Amino acid sequence: MDSSVYVFAEDLRSEGREKVLDRLRGYGVGGVTVGVVHHRTRDVTPHGLSRLTLRHDGAHFPLPEDLFGELRLRPAPGYLDVLDGMREACSSRGMKFHGWTVFLRNEAIGVAHPDVTVRNCFGDRGYPTDLCPAHPDVRLYAVALAKAVARLGVDSVVAESLHYRPLKAERSFVPLGPMDAYLMALCFCDYCMRRADDLGVNAEVARDECSRIVGAVLDGEQPAQGEVTRAALTAYAGPDVVNYARARSETVTSLVSEVSAAVAAEGSQLTFIDATGAVKGYKHGLPSPGLAAHDAWQLGVDLVALGDLVPSFGVLAYARDAARVADDVAAYLRSVGKDREVRAVVRPGHPDSDTADRLIAKVRGAKAAGAAAVDFYAYGLVPYLTLDRIPSALS
Ligand SMILES: [Zn+2]
Repeated sequence: MDSSVYVFAEDLRSEGREKVLDRLRGYGVGGVTVGVVHHRTRDVTPHGLSRLTLRHDGAHFPLPEDLFGELRLRPAPGYLDVLDGMREACSSRGMKFHGWTVFLRNEAIGVAHPDVTVRNCFGDRGYPTDLCPAHPDVRLYAVALAKAVARLGVDSVVAESLHYRPLKAERSFVPLGPMDAYLMALCFCDYCMRRADDLGVNAEVARDECSRIVGAVLDGEQPAQGEVTRAALTAYAGPDVVNYARARSETVTSLVSEVSAAVAAEGSQLTFIDATGAVKGYKHGLPSPGLAAHDAWQLGVDLVALGDLVPSFGVLAYARDAARVADDVAAYLRSVGKDREVRAVVRPGHPDSDTADRLIAKVRGAKAAGAAAVDFYAYGLVPYLTLDRIPSALS
């Protein structure tokens, strides 16, 4: 069974590439999935040189001018020499090198170019972290970024945030239910509305319905209870809104298709990861009931369509329960096709795996369900003692 460990650029800088790779090679891991383009965040890093690490939006390699010279959007420069020699260092140890790339979550770009960010039903652009996948400049950026990462010589480009994202306010004293929050997150920028109109959806009616429904809750009406499902959403918001939400998958599918083709043309392959598993289980490892593959449509991700276009998928199996991990993997395989590579991404420690045995059970569950690989998330975020569970999980 193939495997890798997610590694941040800051891990390589702080601890040294050779030391990190030797430790992981010693675990019997098949490769590393390195964050080559990342988003801003602040992490507790238990064994880094600093125990609190601030990460920035940006790319940890020099941008090829032939790809970005003509583009309006480009990632900020990160640690430009951190990947020097990485390909060779992995190959000499018989390890694969995957390029983990965060595409449409980029606050630096969103702040500099607010017109490419998502816009809600009220016309607000309050989400600088979220670039809209329908905007033509964002699509050009995504394709150029994918090519640039492929040119690092990676075995695969691992795509994160290459779809619409769930959005939350940082503070809300209004009790928005899951459905109201979902409606408030839908993008109604000019490009999204035009694409929906082209598919025969009345985007203006959908937008007006969203603002009417969410507006009423903001005015003090009771929010809808219950999780987002197509049936519940139809009952709550009507068919125009549901059709609008579903039309988003064309925007995402066509973008992922372009990105996948661009990566293949550079001699690598795309692994597509949607955030649904993280939306469900990130905080506590106790995912909400619907399987991630069944709810991915909410982010514009049509796994059945993508199965024809993308060779490899990652499942964010952020769950404590081994049976749930197996169920999630099996559901992805049913959606994308049995001949596709499905990789289970598991967290070896808190909050998903309290013991080595639990981690072992989850890796076995993923394998039994048909996962081709298991990837562990992430090197710099968990103590060495937790990372030390990996060899027994792989054996
Ligand atoms: Zn949009």
